[in-house]
Amino acid sequence: MKFGGTSVGTPQRMKEVVKLISDADQKIVVLSAMSGTTNQLYEISDYLYKKNPVGANENINILEEKYYKHVDELYTTEEYKEKTRQFLKQEFDYIRSFTKGIFTMFEEKIIVGQGEILSTNMVTNYLLEQGYNAALLPALDFMRTDKNSEPDLEYIREKLKITLAEMPNKDIYITQGFICRNAYGEVDNLQRGGSDYSASLIGAAIEASEIQIWTDIDGMHNNDPRYVENTSPVQTLSFEEASELAYFGAKILHPTCVQPAKFAGIPVKLLNTMDPTAPGTVISNKTQRGSIKAVAAKDNITAINITSSRMLLAYGFLRKVFEIFETYKTSIDMVTTSEVGVSVSIDNTSNLSQILNELKKLGTVSVDVDMCIICVVGDLDWHNIGFESLATETMKDVPVRMISYGGSNHNISFLVAAADKKKALQSLSNHLFKNN
Ligand code: ASP
Ligand code: MG
Repeated sequence: MKFGGTSVGTPQRMKEVVKLISDADQKIVVLSAMSGTTNQLYEISDYLYKKNPVGANENINILEEKYYKHVDELYTTEEYKEKTRQFLKQEFDYIRSFTKGIFTMFEEKIIVGQGEILSTNMVTNYLLEQGYNAALLPALDFMRTDKNSEPDLEYIREKLKITLAEMPNKDIYITQGFICRNAYGEVDNLQRGGSDYSASLIGAAIEASEIQIWTDIDGMHNNDPRYVENTSPVQTLSFEEASELAYFGAKILHPTCVQPAKFAGIPVKLLNTMDPTAPGTVISNKTQRGSIKAVAAKDNITAINITSSRMLLAYGFLRKVFEIFETYKTSIDMVTTSEVGVSVSIDNTSNLSQILNELKKLGTVSVDVDMCIICVVGDLDWHNIGFESLATETMKDVPVRMISYGGSNHNISFLVAAADKKKALQSLSNHLFKNN
């Protein structure tokens, strides 16, 4: 069971989490940092990079104050209040120790991981105070990435087994999301929002019966509720559909998270801490045939078009184009081609000018900025008739820059101007999910 930052965002929320984790089933609980904390830790690191220890200290003090305030609200006994105060003092003194001496990426990795150390210790202390049979599993003892910065599932599996054996027969094990060690044993993390990934890896490592990701929304919605009215949760998704949606903007799940669960064949449930009995979304290896499931949008997309008569009847042209993006470590989201041209979309523009310089050696280049990918996900197997025309028909009042279909069996994507995003999403909802 994984609980995100808002689910542990206040002492009250922490108590709600404890209600959800204290049934009879034995479990590992992965916690994020209290919401806002990781951002503040990055801010503190930023001051230290800028060689401003005074600024860093001011921010550390503000954060520390906030945490001390939680103590009286969370615990009832003087014993646990004192125990937690001592823990917090030790923690914040440790964070303060980085304001002296050199500050590099290594120190930053340690600092930004303290949010999870704080939240997990606080919740474990609360469980122990309340008399639960609980223990804290230090994630740094078993979470590890390999030399390619990919999680090392073999290592995680073995080490987690040993760590669990050292603390046998607990009902509830609490551990930190996000943080890990790298192949050299140094403190590292699974990138922003990585706690979902931690949960999926741990679930796969212990061959859990299911992985539950608890947030504050009742599952993955069939459209973005921030832009569209009358969205509803999707009850079932295949792993492929869920990854597409997560990658293309459904904020509820970290895009890499589903991979370990998918390989291990373990269902992932998305559940709502505010409405724990709601069915949520179940992501599994099963594909539900014959329906379009959901729509998501990815912002800040740039489209690049290269046309060249040299492409006509030539081979190797696309390789040259793609190699340029590879050289500048820029990943491509969408691709469309014609006999004399290719359009691609990217979301990372930090090397755009170099990329354009190189592309101009190959052909005539044009760029459209402020675009947005609208991704329609469902059973879009090419043998099915009608779904692609239905989706396209829905976009009839929206200028479309690119359409991509056939790359997989469960996606059709449209590239539109960011200004048309809301209209496109609403129109898709109206036409595709009107019976929901
Ligand atoms: N606390 C980390 C972050 O804010 C990890 C997570 O929340 O999943 O990115
Ligand atoms: Mg988070």
